[in-house]
Amino acid sequence: LRFCHGVRRGRTTIQPLDLDPIASIRNFGIVSHIDAGKTTVSERILFYSGETHKMGEVHDGLAVMDWMPQEQERGITITASTTTCHWSDCRLNLIDTPGHIDFTIEVERSMRVLDGAIAIFSAVEGVQPQSELVWRQADRYRVPRICFINKIDRIGADYQQALQQVVERLQARPVLLQLPVGVETSFAGVIDLLAEELVSFEESDLGRTVRRSPVPEELKPEVQEARLRLTEVAADFDDEVMADFLEGRAIPAERLRAALRRGTLSCAIFPVFLGSALRNKGIQPLMDAVCDFLPSPLELPGLVGRHPETGTGQTLTCDPAAPLQALAFKVMAEEGRRLTYLRVYSGTLKPGAALLNSARRTTERIKHIFHIHAHKREEIPEGRAGDIVAVTGCQVTLTGDTLSDPAQPLVLEGLEVPEPVVSLA
Ligand code: GDP
Repeated sequence: LRFCHGVRRGRTTIQPLDLDPIASIRNFGIVSHIDAGKTTVSERILFYSGETHKMGEVHDGLAVMDWMPQEQERGITITASTTTCHWSDCRLNLIDTPGHIDFTIEVERSMRVLDGAIAIFSAVEGVQPQSELVWRQADRYRVPRICFINKIDRIGADYQQALQQVVERLQARPVLLQLPVGVETSFAGVIDLLAEELVSFEESDLGRTVRRSPVPEELKPEVQEARLRLTEVAADFDDEVMADFLEGRAIPAERLRAALRRGTLSCAIFPVFLGSALRNKGIQPLMDAVCDFLPSPLELPGLVGRHPETGTGQTLTCDPAAPLQALAFKVMAEEGRRLTYLRVYSGTLKPGAALLNSARRTTERIKHIFHIHAHKREEIPEGRAGDIVAVTGCQVTLTGDTLSDPAQPLVLEGLEVPEPVVSLA
């Protein structure tokens, strides 16, 4: 728990215990063709992070098993615009991106607030036209991506064909970081090519237990060859790795990962992971990959805001001490209250803050600030630069509006929805 509720002078207060450092935040979304498995992957991420089922409460397989039929019955869907959870040392803000092609403008809007994405492809269907469309939108906003080839357990699964399609249809450079162990229904785990380990998932425990063991002897030649290919790619992003590669020296996993991360952040390469969301295989390594390969808000180029009257540009810094600038990217009605989702780009948002919405020529007063978890709202004392929060108190703010420190009004550049070029009148 990052915050605790305390009582001071008879009033309930919220006391910060340990604010997440900005560097630990990952604001990411999942982009895919409909049916590729976005919902299943999202649910599994929340499950493994303990958001939909408390890890600590599970003493045997039974409690976990209880969760499955329940989940299937109710068809839990993530209705929040952004759901927050913790994994490893990171706070993952999973931003919902609409899956349907009709919502292209909504997809574009969400692209603007996410810093990275998981692109899901089905190992059976491969890259489909809609996957191509969302990929192009992510390209337009230079969103770093990792790829997850899902449904490896299905008959007809062919991850190599899916990889080939990423190259041919998306003109992208995928980098395979895992090899599958077993095919189709006998898919059992993956080889982690960086760590050179076999990663398996215990069936008996819904894949909760991840076991790491040495690579079996018979797979070693294939693993060495795949690792060599990966090293060659990493060498493009690190001169020392290149020198070691050319000299044939062994390169530790951490150095390769750092080099590949650099390539990923510049959208030059796209690390690829394999799994089956339905069979709970491969989700935890994918979550590790979100932490390892996708950027924190500090690693992104500063967004440019413009003064609403003079048009003077200003580059924002992800600094909690700077004047507040936040973008409203979703407005929802919940329990009769207006809940406004904000991406805070600079400054620190506090309850009671009066903020200028220059597009509506009005001042909004923030009441409460929340992190939205899968099944609860957590009231927090402040929302800091880099974070995504939901607030109450905004009366007129609409999706796409900027809320600014009144002393420094800005409109965040390029964030308006483009006007239709052709009039239908
Ligand atoms: P979305 O439309 O992208 O959100 O896809 P869903 O998560 O709803 O998945 C679409 C269908 O594929 C559902 O019937 C899932 O149960 C199934 N599915 C998802 N992931 C896997 C997988 O890894 N293996 C198999 N065999 N089926 C899957």
